[in-house]
Amino acid sequence: MVGGRGVSPQARGGEGVTANFQDSEVVAGWEEILSRDRYRLRLSEISSGYPDDRSISVSYEDIDAYSTDLAMFFLENPDRCMARGREVVKGAMPPDWDPANAINLRITGLPKDANVDIRHLRAKHLGKLVAVEGLVRKATTVRPRMVEALFRCARCGAEIPVPQTSMLLKEPMMCTSPDGSCNKQSTRFILEDKESSYVDTQKIEIQESPEGLRGGAQPERLTAFVEDDISGAITAGNRITLNGIIRSTEKAERDKSTVFEIFMDVVSVEFEQHEYDEIQITEEDEREIRAMSRDPRLFDNIIGSISPTIYGMSEVKSAIALQLFGGCHKEMDDGTVLRGDMHILLVGDPGVAKSQILRYMSALAPRGIYASGKSASAAGLTAAAVRDDFGDGRYTLEAGALVLADKGLACIDELDKMTDQDRSSLHEAMESQRISVAKAGITATLQCRCSMLAAANPKFGRFDKDMPIVGQIDLPPALMSRFDLIFVLTDKPDSKTDRAVTTHILDVHRRGEARQLSDEAVLDGVDLAGIRGETSGIRPVYEIDILRKYVAYSKRIVPVMTQGAVDKIRDNYLSIRAMGAGENESVPITPRQLEAFVRLSEASARMRLSPVVEASDAERSVDLVNYYLGRILAPNGGTWDVDRVSSSYTKKDRDKVKIVLHILEERGDAIPEAEILSLAASEGLSDPEVRESLRKLHDQGMIYSPGNGMYRKA
Ligand code: ADP
Ligand code: MG
Repeated sequence: MVGGRGVSPQARGGEGVTANFQDSEVVAGWEEILSRDRYRLRLSEISSGYPDDRSISVSYEDIDAYSTDLAMFFLENPDRCMARGREVVKGAMPPDWDPANAINLRITGLPKDANVDIRHLRAKHLGKLVAVEGLVRKATTVRPRMVEALFRCARCGAEIPVPQTSMLLKEPMMCTSPDGSCNKQSTRFILEDKESSYVDTQKIEIQESPEGLRGGAQPERLTAFVEDDISGAITAGNRITLNGIIRSTEKAERDKSTVFEIFMDVVSVEFEQHEYDEIQITEEDEREIRAMSRDPRLFDNIIGSISPTIYGMSEVKSAIALQLFGGCHKEMDDGTVLRGDMHILLVGDPGVAKSQILRYMSALAPRGIYASGKSASAAGLTAAAVRDDFGDGRYTLEAGALVLADKGLACIDELDKMTDQDRSSLHEAMESQRISVAKAGITATLQCRCSMLAAANPKFGRFDKDMPIVGQIDLPPALMSRFDLIFVLTDKPDSKTDRAVTTHILDVHRRGEARQLSDEAVLDGVDLAGIRGETSGIRPVYEIDILRKYVAYSKRIVPVMTQGAVDKIRDNYLSIRAMGAGENESVPITPRQLEAFVRLSEASARMRLSPVVEASDAERSVDLVNYYLGRILAPNGGTWDVDRVSSSYTKKDRDKVKIVLHILEERGDAIPEAEILSLAASEGLSDPEVRESLRKLHDQGMIYSPGNGMYRKA
């Protein structure tokens, strides 16, 4: 174990007195506990399974059953108790069995009151055994750490073992050999690294789980060291409970500071088993949830609980509500996995409350994470293997937002500002919900089974109403097609909606002001009670707490589609496809959108806690998809140009490009731009159209320019 130091009893503060135990009493306790059949059997398994099997886990419950006082004492004095325990373990092994020293004693299942939030770790926890829950943000590769260095005196050749407790190699001060010929005068020592002893170690960083945070607080982090056989079992993105001893770094050796960093010396690791376990649903909750589900206004109530301070946007809110419930995750007979999580993109002018909605949802959704595309962390949105200070030169696997939001909701703001690395790895993350990292000896596959709610600004900062919408979304088409729904939010002055939004925002502020005052407060010229009454619609219909429970509860249901739902989805999908067929050879909307219909319909059924997807659920999904397609395909009304969904330019644009390309193909040699302009003019193309086409072809690498305004087909 990494070196500990005792904590003076005064540091404990005035927290109830725990009984004191003599070493002999601790030993007696261990002997009694370890003599139980279960542990005796384990020890004999270890003696035959060593070195693969070399840890014995003792449940805290067993210590508690032996003596509650001793169990309490244990939490307070873990180093002493563990040392006694290891001695007892050693004594239980065959007397001349050498590896007995190397057996790890691991305590699991600490009681609730040993659970400490990372942000609440204090000086009083130093040297204590605690349990900390969280998400693994970083994990280094496993490397050996020297636990005992063997030095040889350069003069007399005596061997001097020096236990190593920190990252810095500790050397002997003087030759300690009593009968060495150097007479304790030597100051030179040679490190015998082959004869020193090592242990595998892994450094990890865990951060508080998002569900424990209130109001978008920044999660706090803790560094922990995992040693020997359990190192390497942990990877970035895991949700774990670490049981271990809190220690302070010996940084002071270097910089003589009296302020210490803390870290955890891990005793045992528990991996979380269940997804929504952190949300406890009592029988009473269940009754309330059932009653809510029977309310005919259920859907409106849920929408009314999503960001009520934001006016309007009912389609966006409906979509987000469905996203919260999600479609069904499916595993097919051949092992294929179909994702149930859906992804939503909001593209809009600045100041239309995109960020506000994302922040709200990251707080509301179980396991919600808010992150920006232009985040500073090396891991970005997905994951990365980096070599930094944290790993002391080792490679560290660092989890990005999507991995941290595993089984939750990743709210990604400013998606258009993401790094090129994210741009290329996001496809895999969104579709197969995995991220593979292969770099510098680290090969890992991280899970990111999350839904994504993303926001982006248009390419030129603001939507230009005279240009096709899709061309103004600065994301690769392949990435866009991964979104189930894409909402275009424009901010154009309109006296009626402006008035409504203004009234709403002012009401929000008035209500906010009134909320700061007590119910009895009286003010001249202001009717506080009146304000509270008038603006009561700004309160969420369902409190966040019960809504989260409702969502968690709904995940137990796996609804199945009725024939009515299937017919509805098929007919609608086929009719949209048909619009793109005929003279138009391109594929307009892809089977991905068909899957989006299915997920949305399943989510709608789940929201009703219904075991079947009815035609009405399918209808809700069809309405939403048609709404968003309409906004993108015909922002100013009129007929849809379905090509606009999946490719960045329309059929008309493409025809122009084809004409220009054809001119270059016919010649087969470089042509001056002026000549291309005149040739294309005879086909009815204007000069700007030709230049735009040339630019597109050039961007795509279809043509190139050998210089002096010439173009040639690539
Ligand atoms: P964006 O991220 O889209 O640029 P923000 O989320 O930062 O915009 O919103 C800017 C401000 O405008 C926020 O304080 C938000 O509450 C307010 N706002 C914008 N639209 C609305 C609306 N429809 N209803 C209420 N407030 C709004
Ligand atoms: Mg914003």
